Amino acid sequence: RPALVWFRDDLRLADNPALDAAQASGRRLVLVFLLDDVSAGVRPLGGAARWWLSRSLAALSAEVEAKGGQLVLRRGAAGDVLPRLAHEAGAGAVYWNRRYGAPEIATDRAVKASLVARGIKVESFGGSLLHEPWTVATQSGAPFRVFTPFYRRAAGQAVRSPTRAPSAWRHAPAPESERLEDWALEPTGPDWAGGLRQAWTPGEEGARAALADFIDGGLDGYAGARDRPDQPSTSRLSPHLRFGEMSPHRAFAAVRHAEAAGDASARDIEKFVSEVYWREFSYHLLFHFPDLAQANFSPRFDAFEWANDTVLERAWRSGRTGYPLVDAGMRQLWQTGWMHNRVRMVAASFLIKHGLTDWRRGEDWFWDTLVDADPANNPASWQWVAGSGADAAPYFRVFNPVAQGEKFDPEGTYVRHFVPELAGLPAKLIHRPWEAPADLLRHAGVVLGETYPRPIVDHAQARQRALDRFQRIRGD
Ligand code: FAD
Repeated sequence: RPALVWFRDDLRLADNPALDAAQASGRRLVLVFLLDDVSAGVRPLGGAARWWLSRSLAALSAEVEAKGGQLVLRRGAAGDVLPRLAHEAGAGAVYWNRRYGAPEIATDRAVKASLVARGIKVESFGGSLLHEPWTVATQSGAPFRVFTPFYRRAAGQAVRSPTRAPSAWRHAPAPESERLEDWALEPTGPDWAGGLRQAWTPGEEGARAALADFIDGGLDGYAGARDRPDQPSTSRLSPHLRFGEMSPHRAFAAVRHAEAAGDASARDIEKFVSEVYWREFSYHLLFHFPDLAQANFSPRFDAFEWANDTVLERAWRSGRTGYPLVDAGMRQLWQTGWMHNRVRMVAASFLIKHGLTDWRRGEDWFWDTLVDADPANNPASWQWVAGSGADAAPYFRVFNPVAQGEKFDPEGTYVRHFVPELAGLPAKLIHRPWEAPADLLRHAGVVLGETYPRPIVDHAQARQRALDRFQRIRGD
């Protein structure tokens, strides 16, 4: 009887443990993807992630077809659809790589129970993480709550070597598939995805190309340059990792190879590896603290009085706060579905601290607009910035968007690109246009309050207001 391989957050053929095991079983294979946004507690994907998923599935389908097979697409609650599909295919076994969110784990348990009751064998594997969350623990067996000791412990543990995509496998007759176009994952009127199409190539091939570009270009010097949004200094692998088009194992193997070949320094490699371990840490948190996206990790924040300034929030979303670095970031997000990490921190801090806005509102906007919107990284990072998270930034860290701009975008190149109405200003004023003399503004074609907004809040006042309010819940 055939084996069914259920693809989820692992849209790849290379280094896919579930696929490898199914192939090794000697059975004929049926490959399946289910779109399930109806099972209890499952968070529906945001708009940008739906666009990515659509493109990624199209790429995976093409890869499977090139090997003579077919990716079967079905939509609905996994608990109903998967057992039905297994029945249609006459499957004797089902293979998948694990997921780590509580609703997904509950769904998988229920599916497994129902399959096993029908006499179908189920096997699950660790595919997306370097370490299964329950394998990294403190001396006393508790989950880590602080990154550095987590990293030290985890990085000392063995990691498997990545495998290649199977060159061929035996195909079982595929049950009927739904059509990807009928799922309407991509926007139609209005079509806001033009910038996304330009910026990205979803799919396994695109992931490989991004990694190769990074190793050729950004990796050498990464440790020093990764905070610079004005340079192509980071890997841009995040959406590929999010959808499992590449495993972290594969990325590690490639950077280690570059190190051995003398193409990058140990410092650059170490920095990159530690960033990927932040992703591991977020998943570790999500697994052990499943309401990471809903509840303050630190309960003392439950008493925080958010002001939720909706006028500021609207300006923030549309990149019109009057702070050029924040606005450039929010427009990069809207146009390309991605934002540089340094700017994510500054933009998130601005919404939370300058607008006294509940971090969950910002997390939600990022969830909808990021192509890499990640169930673990997104809430963990927002909580980190808010100060409510594990190993969080201290409450009194209020990023100064002007100083951050001058430090990390010193020539104003990033701002000029995403806020073109300020492009005519010189570097020393581009992060503080309100201080520019009238004749210089005129010469640059900037009319504050018309072509570009004045700052929506005064930084010093907003900072003080935030400190006062955060002070109230300090509790020490
Ligand atoms: P690189 O610097 O090349 O890093 C390589 C990989 O390491 C990344 O692809 C990512 O998987 C991981 N990584 C890097 N930095 C971090 C980090 N700080 N935390 C966790 N993992 C990291 N990342 C997401 O993948 N999805 C999200 O939804 C997300 N939301 C965020 C929200 C906020 C408010 C902040 C401050 C950060 C968020 N991040 C998120 C983390 C980080 O900004 C992105 O992973 C990074 O910018 C992706 O770019 P890159 O692939 O070029 O990173």
